[in-house]
Amino acid sequence: MSIQPILQEVFGYREFRGPQQAIIEHVVAGGDALVLMPTGGGKSLCYQIPAIARQRAGLGITLVISPLIALMHDQVGALHEAGVEAAFLNSTLSGEEAAQVERRLLRADMTLLYAAPERVTTARFLAQLDSLYERGLLGLFAIDEAHCVSQWGHDFRPEYRALTVLHERYPSVPRMALTATADTLTRADILERLQLQEARQFVSSFDRPNISYTIVEKRDATQQLLRFISREHLGEAGIVYCQSRKRVEEVADLLCDEGIAALPYHAGLDNKVRQANQDQFLRDEGIVMVATIAFGMGIDKPDVRFVAHLDMPKNIEGYYQETGRAGRDGEPADAWMCYGLQDVVNQRRMIDESPAEEEFKQGLRGKLDALLGLAEATDCRRVRLLAYFGEASQPCGNCDNCLHPPAVWDGTDAARKLLSTIYRVQQMDGISYGAVHITDILRGKRSEKVLQRGHDSLSTFGLGADFSEVQVRGVLRQLIAIGAVTVDAQAFNTLKLTDASRAVLRGDVPVRLRESVSTPAPRKAKRDSARVSVKPPVALDESAESRYLALKAWRAGVAKEHNLPAYVIFHDATLAAIAQNAPQSLEDLQGISGLGVKKLEAYGQQVLRLLEKV
Ligand code: ADP
Ligand code: ZN
Repeated sequence: MSIQPILQEVFGYREFRGPQQAIIEHVVAGGDALVLMPTGGGKSLCYQIPAIARQRAGLGITLVISPLIALMHDQVGALHEAGVEAAFLNSTLSGEEAAQVERRLLRADMTLLYAAPERVTTARFLAQLDSLYERGLLGLFAIDEAHCVSQWGHDFRPEYRALTVLHERYPSVPRMALTATADTLTRADILERLQLQEARQFVSSFDRPNISYTIVEKRDATQQLLRFISREHLGEAGIVYCQSRKRVEEVADLLCDEGIAALPYHAGLDNKVRQANQDQFLRDEGIVMVATIAFGMGIDKPDVRFVAHLDMPKNIEGYYQETGRAGRDGEPADAWMCYGLQDVVNQRRMIDESPAEEEFKQGLRGKLDALLGLAEATDCRRVRLLAYFGEASQPCGNCDNCLHPPAVWDGTDAARKLLSTIYRVQQMDGISYGAVHITDILRGKRSEKVLQRGHDSLSTFGLGADFSEVQVRGVLRQLIAIGAVTVDAQAFNTLKLTDASRAVLRGDVPVRLRESVSTPAPRKAKRDSARVSVKPPVALDESAESRYLALKAWRAGVAKEHNLPAYVIFHDATLAAIAQNAPQSLEDLQGISGLGVKKLEAYGQQVLRLLEKV
């Protein structure tokens, strides 16, 4: 069975990307697969093309299991636009609509069915699958967002655990699991939980070369964010992640006050409002979504130009998945994070206070440490990120540390003095103190509390008078990051020494710190020197530009009429290619990337007529 024609006819693409072809061939032939690909890598085609191929071969329909109920409508809409029969079953359908889909399902009168895991494991639905299976009409199971099966992932969904029933009940149906979360722990968990030990594993490179990574020290986070957006991304679509719902609301308001079109999204919002905000983000251009991590899984908007983190996420998987939502179209995009001591303290506390088993908490701490290491890094961020996913690489030339190597100072001496201070105070009073007080003692500040407790008599008092407060904070963050100091959340966030402190005190562990830079270097140079392995966005001449704008306006009308996001009709890149080619006939339109047979048929004439008038 040839799959190349499906890619061209249905999706209008010329070539497979990365490992797509190998994956698709394996699954079309009936093999099981685990597919690990970064966000934006092109996972959807990996199950959609096998679905089409197996349906055409009379092997039955594909069931796509996905937790993303709110996105199923658009996903199915996109398939319809490409001329593929698809449907979804979830709680947004009325009883009558659902019954209709079920009747079609029993006739196997579709190529793909999307359903949420809680639906799939109901007795009613399984009975319908039984009927298809008996007639040989169950062609493939695609388990999307498969990391949801693992408690190590950040989106654990217990219902995913019940999906083993598919394998047990329908052993001859091939299964594929797909995810963008690839650390070894989660990967092993997916294989075991879904009983995919025998499946072939396809692991893509996780590099997203068009994304530039920047991590800055938190001063006044919202002002820093405002500056970042105004300088680099005015009028562009982006996502801003915050930790709490309250913060989401505040930041969205603040951005709106500054004239930036921002919307809030978090689990505490009314369902309707949340869905409306998500729709607006997907359908309109240039919206900034301010959100908790509840937002974003499965969001396939291709032109998100930046993802900003105002608070530090829990771990590198979360960070990478969230930032991966930028630049799916392959054009330059930014991942920007602002992080400070309080983030470290908060995240530690959340782990300490969680009711989980100690062993599990230890796992979480390890993951947090890796993220802290990334934030404190003075070398290439991408090298570290990729190393976390088991990939070796060279400095990237497209992250803050590569573009503007930070001045590094040797903080070993400062670190030892800081640790001694914590030790002496503890020895003197039998209790420990928080970061502010310890810093005051070290820097020789005669604060009320210092005088009251007589801490100005300590031998370490004023030992670090040469260091600025910012420097001491940096040292402390680094020490917490390497585990040489812990913050005791049970005791007012006081600082305590650990087993690892000793090596630093002895001077065995060098502590290298980035010099704090208060004003970020101008970014102009960055774009020029960036080693971005994507073609620059096509520069259009004047007449092509007016065609492009006319096409965009036309697309907006079609999208609205079909109740779908504009990019589902055509990507910007497809419109730009049409504008540049100035087609006179349907033939001229053929072969433009993103224009499959169905779209050519549906829109070709309209596009030609429109262009005649421009
Ligand atoms: P993922 O699910 O892995 O995050 P998607 O399946 O949404 O990624 O694909 C990301 C984008 O890349 C989509 O806009 C898709 O149309 C596009 N794409 C995928 N495969 C190809 C290909 N072979 N050629 C051109 N574009 C592709
Ligand atoms: Zn780099």
